[in-house]
Amino acid sequence: MKVPVKNIPPGGRDLSDEVPFADLGIEGADWVAQGPVYVRARATKSHEEVTVRGRLAVELQVECCRCLSPCVHEVSSDFEVYFEPCPEPLAPDEPLPPGPSLGMEYYTGHVVDLTSTLRDALVLAVPSRLLCRPDCAGLCPRCGADRNEGPCRCTPSPEEAGEGQRADATEANPFARFFRERASPEELGRGGR
Ligand SMILES: [Zn+2]
Ligand SMILES: [Zn+2]
Repeated sequence: MKVPVKNIPPGGRDLSDEVPFADLGIEGADWVAQGPVYVRARATKSHEEVTVRGRLAVELQVECCRCLSPCVHEVSSDFEVYFEPCPEPLAPDEPLPPGPSLGMEYYTGHVVDLTSTLRDALVLAVPSRLLCRPDCAGLCPRCGADRNEGPCRCTPSPEEAGEGQRADATEANPFARFFRERASPEELGRGGR
């Protein structure tokens, strides 16, 4: 995303763009964008220095870190960057040197380029652990079944556990009364001394 400096009037200029994800040059991430990166920003100019403040938003296709199912995650991030003209003349095709400090970039040819700013803002905004939903039950560590689709055979479901407790309470279990009496404080006190 490039903005000619002469297109920024003294009062500033609102920018709106859809940047193809591939243009950001993000490689090696375990997520990809589902569509373009939406950018809204405001550029202001003071002498030759340009400030751009804005927000990006994109829908990412990711893998849930618990159940490994593909899911869509919306990520947005604010960004702010200052540009100043590159102090050294550059040879044709010579890349711009890194900016003088964090959040500062050089520009050349009277055009500011937001590509690296957008790339860094997006990479920092993606959480390291993405879930398909906040209460994702994940995979069973023993049999690998997706617990979101129901309980596997390794663990009793909450309903089964609840029925077990009710059975004890109604003394369907012949030992229930025995255990309850054994556990009374009086019994424990007498038995212990
Ligand atoms: Zn999940
Ligand atoms: Zn299981």
